[in-house]
Parts: sequence; structure tokens; C-alpha cells
Amino acid sequence: MVGVHTRRAARQVLIGDVAIGGGAPVVVQSMTNTDTEDVAATVAQVAALARAGSELVRVTVNTAEAAAAVPHIRERLAAMGITVPLVGDFHFNGHRLLRQHPACAEALAKLRINPGNVGHGSKRDEQFAALIEFACRYGKPVRIGVNWGSLDPELLARMMDDNARSALPADAGVVTRDALVASALESAQQAEQFGLAGDKIVLSCKVSGVQDLIAVYRDLAARCDYPLHLGLTEAGMGSKGIVASSAALAVLLQEGIGDTIRISLTPEPGGDRTREVVVAQELLQTMGLRSFTPLVIACPGCGRTTSTFFQELAADIQSYLRAQMPLWRGRYPGVESMHVAVMGCVVNGPGESKHANIGISLPGSGENPVAPVYIDGAKAVTLKGEHIAAEFQALVEQYVQKNYSAESPAAEQTPTTVG
Ligand code: SF4
Repeated sequence: MVGVHTRRAARQVLIGDVAIGGGAPVVVQSMTNTDTEDVAATVAQVAALARAGSELVRVTVNTAEAAAAVPHIRERLAAMGITVPLVGDFHFNGHRLLRQHPACAEALAKLRINPGNVGHGSKRDEQFAALIEFACRYGKPVRIGVNWGSLDPELLARMMDDNARSALPADAGVVTRDALVASALESAQQAEQFGLAGDKIVLSCKVSGVQDLIAVYRDLAARCDYPLHLGLTEAGMGSKGIVASSAALAVLLQEGIGDTIRISLTPEPGGDRTREVVVAQELLQTMGLRSFTPLVIACPGCGRTTSTFFQELAADIQSYLRAQMPLWRGRYPGVESMHVAVMGCVVNGPGESKHANIGISLPGSGENPVAPVYIDGAKAVTLKGEHIAAEFQALVEQYVQKNYSAESPAAEQTPTTVG
């Protein structure tokens, strides 16, 4: 892939049948925001996230009732034919919950442990050891997930004291970043000492600042070969969350750092949780790292477009393509790499349409009310009248059937992912 650095060599960890690291494609994951005790709501949201394309889904396991619910959630998903691996998020009471609810450990594909939040003082090592022992007993991989907001206070205090005593003390921000990386690496080393195999460990060090995240992961990547889970924690809402996450993750992915990603968006009230999955997929796809859904290339529009028709057509085609993917994924291999152009006028419309697999150039202000359609670089037909949108959608469907059916040459040649 032009411009993308070689992926950092990392061990491979298997989460159920999903491979993380070791050259596997970057995995998209997400997390529910339902109360895990509410089995029906959690099943519905895990199913929605999995259908949107989340390849792992994390649920919080914060109470005895939540731990008891996990096996039922797993069973109900299985009955729906949904096999997405579930990851359990454990904190200070995780050791107790797993001891009291072994079926919870069995139902999970991975445990996420925050080493800064498993207990304090002498209890910390004891409770961390107990969690690792459960992971070993049930053969589960572990993500050691350090977080800026819950960094081990004793480790941070020790490193701040050492820094204060040094001849050239570093900035407190630098020491905090070093402490995050140290917490992840020391916890991984401890987990291995407690018996967890090195190929059962994934690391993350999440912070909420873009530059901090880049610095922390560059350091972490250079100092270990565990697969890395990338994510900007508390990224925020809407465009801010998307931009901040993309800015940070894109720099790291471009350098070959990162084996699985999560976009931690705060949903708008009543918003759709699957948005974080769509953004993660779009980030990977626009960077050329993976393909999930045909991409729509649309111009931004300007004074040459006299109506919202072309914006509606671009939005409709995008929704239509995404909605087809659960069916198309199995039926039309390679279709996820298709490019569809929807352009507002003849200035850039024909040129951009010719570069796409199929593209339409709508009439701009003062232009003839006709819309030429280009297929594989050549003008194929000119649409006009009331039903341009429906006719273009039908042409897209025909293009897919012709070019991506299992026996078609395009399907045989189109790579679906770039590892
Ligand atoms: S293609 Fe036409 S309508 Fe779209 S931004 Fe360019 S000039 Fe404006």
C-alpha cells in the first residue's frame, strides 16, 4: 500500500476466531453502553454492533448481576446466529465476580483488566494475580488496558519522586506518559510471571489528548511486541470525537502501529451506538488498510448546485450500499472495494466519475437537466427526468451483480483487505 509503513511486527493473539496482531488485518471493536444486567437491551445492542461490523464487542462486568447475565447474553446471541466474541471489562471487583460466576468467564472470549483500577496497596498485586489466574484457568486472553484517568497512583508517585531527584527533571506530562507505558509493560511482565502466556496479552494505553496518545504508543510500540489496541479515550461527541480519534489513530496506523482499534465516541442523546463502528471502518478504509463497504465519493457542492437533490442522492446511495452489505458480503466477494461517485456538476463530475467503478454527474445550475453515468471509465448512459435516483441505484445494483458475483473476474481479482 503506497504511503503506509510496514506494520509493526507483533505476536498474534486469538480472541475466539478473531486474530489480533501477527500481520492480521486491523480489527474493529466497540463497547456497549447498556446496563449489562439488562440482558435484552445488551443482546440487542451487541447484535446491532456486530451487524454494523464490530468484530469484538466489550461489555462492562461491574456487578454480580452483570456477571450472572453474561452467559445468558452469550446464549441468546448464539440463538440469533451472532458469534461475535464478547470481551468482559473488569475493574476493582473483577476477581470476586469471576470467582463467584465461573460461567461468566467461560462465556467471555477475552478479559480486559485495568491495572490501575484492580485494587490499591497490598491488595493490588493480589487481586491482579487472581484475575490473571482466572484468565489462565479458562484459557482466555487478556487486554491490559491502562487509562490516563485511572493510572496506578503508586507507580505515578514513585516515578514523579524519581524524576524530582534527577539532575535534569523532565516535565510532569512526560513523566505521566512514561508512567502509562511503564504500567502497561510492568503489568504484562507480571501477568507472564503469574503464568499467562505472552501470546495471550494485548496492551493499550489510552489517553484523551492526540499528541499524548501518539507519543505514548510510539514508545510502547518500540518497547514490546505485544499487539496493541488503539483508541483515544473520552474522544467526545460528534465531529470533535471523530476528528480527534482519526487524527491520533491515523498517524499511528500510518506508522504501522496498532492491531485493533476502537473509536470512543460519546453518542448524542438518543444517538446510534453503531456510529463508532462505522467511523472505525471508514478510518481504516479511507486509509487503504481494509475494505468494508463500497465508498461513495461525493463533491461538497457549491453555488453551481441549485438544489439539495445531489446531496440526497449521495446520502441515499451511501445508506443503500451500507444496508446491502450484510447480504452482499457473502454473495458478491470484493464488492466492499467498489467506488461510487456522486458529483454535483460537470466541472469535476465526469472526471471523478471516470475514476470510480460507477459514477453519476448531476446537472449543475444552468446546465442541461441530464445526468451522464460512467461505468468503468466510459460514459454508459445519460439519465434524465423524475427518476434519476432510482435508475442510478438500479445501475449500481446491476454493476454489482455483473462484476462481483462469485464467478465474475472482478470478484476473483479484487483484494478484500490489506493486512
Ligand atoms: S463538482 Fe461542481 S458542484 Fe461539485 S463542488 Fe465541484 S464545481 Fe461545485
